[in-house]
Amino acid sequence: MIDLTGLTFDELRQWVVNEMDMKPFRAVQIFGWIHGRRETAFSEMTDISMVHRKKLASAAVLRRPETVEVRKSADGTTKYAFMLDDGEVIESVLIPDRPRLTACLSTQAGCRCRCSFCRTGLSGFRRNLSTAEIVAQLYAMQDISGDRISNVVFMGMGEPMDNFDNVAGALSIISDERGICIGARKITVSTVGLPGGVDRLLATGRQYGLAVSLHSAVPETRRRLVPVSVSLPLSKLKKDLLKYNEKIGRRVTLEYCLISGVNDSPEEAEALIRFAAGLQYKINLLPYNPVEGLNLERPSRETVERFTGYLYPRCQAVTVRRSRGADITAACGQLGLRGGVRSLPRSD
Ligand code: SF4
Repeated sequence: MIDLTGLTFDELRQWVVNEMDMKPFRAVQIFGWIHGRRETAFSEMTDISMVHRKKLASAAVLRRPETVEVRKSADGTTKYAFMLDDGEVIESVLIPDRPRLTACLSTQAGCRCRCSFCRTGLSGFRRNLSTAEIVAQLYAMQDISGDRISNVVFMGMGEPMDNFDNVAGALSIISDERGICIGARKITVSTVGLPGGVDRLLATGRQYGLAVSLHSAVPETRRRLVPVSVSLPLSKLKKDLLKYNEKIGRRVTLEYCLISGVNDSPEEAEALIRFAAGLQYKINLLPYNPVEGLNLERPSRETVERFTGYLYPRCQAVTVRRSRGADITAACGQLGLRGGVRSLPRSD
């Protein structure tokens, strides 16, 4: 049975015409029910004839993940643990920051990149999420919270560019005006800079935001923090970012997880300034969120201020991101703390 949650509008129209032998306009109705009203029962799609509803129900499903845990932080951030059909558990986060409500989505169960400060990376790679599984996280959080989600970031578990076909489907679906309609400019895709990733994002022809997990502009330090960067020269990454600036006309966000004694020195700040020169960018500093089992420390407030002081006023924009949801391990780098989250028994 096909899960229609994961079909873009064009794919759905093709399926409706070719497989269901229905008129193309039915795709508009069905897409609206699935993605606008987030209906999961074909029987409730009341402007579609009963015969057609039955036909749809016999050929397709509209799945939602099973919610296994919802944890709310003192700062309002909520972390959701969702179980997928094969027992994999993934995590997604809802971050209120009025007037915005941002959903942080996972794209893989585990991750191949193994960044040294990230719990998800440590748990290893298990599989890619399908387009339907990526989209369904958003709809599940929207329906459980009851609040309108305004923004989406692909910064949860996994490297989006390592599963780009399915991520591209999700981008198309959630920005489609016939569905939940979250504008491309309100959606950000994060990457460590895998080769070809930026080009593929640009090929969508949409103005999606781009965030790069830089963490250091000193090659040896970056290799230590982001091991896959051994095959990702900073010069090539910069070319990609310049191309993004030029083609999209938007600045790129440089994510920088500040770790005590690792990448918080004046030399690291200088390298960051040099790397950023010529780009349209914003630097987002994230003081490291401690992860049990990792021998890394959060920098002191003074160190963060000193590092920020090196960057000002030589950088276009620098923000120090408030850590959200750290008390429920929902902050950056902390997802996957359920202990290698794999195949929890369904009875849990
Ligand atoms: S930081 Fe992102 S890319 Fe790196 S291991 Fe964690 S999930 Fe993967």
